[in-house]
Amino acid sequence: MNCPSCKTGELTPSFLELLFRTHSCGGCGGHWILIEDFVEWKTRNPGTHRAPQADYEAEDSKNALLCPMTGRIMQKFRLSSDSSHRLDYSPSVGGVWLDPGEWEYLKEHGLADSLNQVFTAQWQASIRKEDARATFTQLYRERFGEEQYQKIKELREWLTAQPNRSDLRAYLLAEDPYSTGR
Ligand SMILES: [Zn+2]
Repeated sequence: MNCPSCKTGELTPSFLELLFRTHSCGGCGGHWILIEDFVEWKTRNPGTHRAPQADYEAEDSKNALLCPMTGRIMQKFRLSSDSSHRLDYSPSVGGVWLDPGEWEYLKEHGLADSLNQVFTAQWQASIRKEDARATFTQLYRERFGEEQYQKIKELREWLTAQPNRSDLRAYLLAEDPYSTGR
């Protein structure tokens, strides 16, 4: 297999940090990992990989990579809502490409244990949900201003915690709660 990234190096069997099987590129130092090998290692070693302090700059390769096994374009998957970093994944073979420094990046962000979950629909959906949340927060901040936003947010949290919240809401929204109206 040839390296999908530098295209010149050959992928040879090795072990990532002596943990699980990978194919590593002799040219650029990237890793080709099959999710099944990762899961097998994780099953044998649950929760062993806690983030050590590392200071690696993982480079997010901008160009589309071709899967070294199928030759098809790999998909880019985001890792979390607070990071724009993306990993290349080949869904048909369950293989992930890690550029040099990306494994260290995953460890640093507490994501090394979740490598097999990142590519699930569930994980990706939760990122989109977080994104929407951040967008709305920003919109409300702009519309209300910081002071009003904090006040209305607090009020809302208090209100939703009350068992009789619908009564309270009616009182709050009525033009004049002391008039029979009409
Ligand atoms: Zn390479």
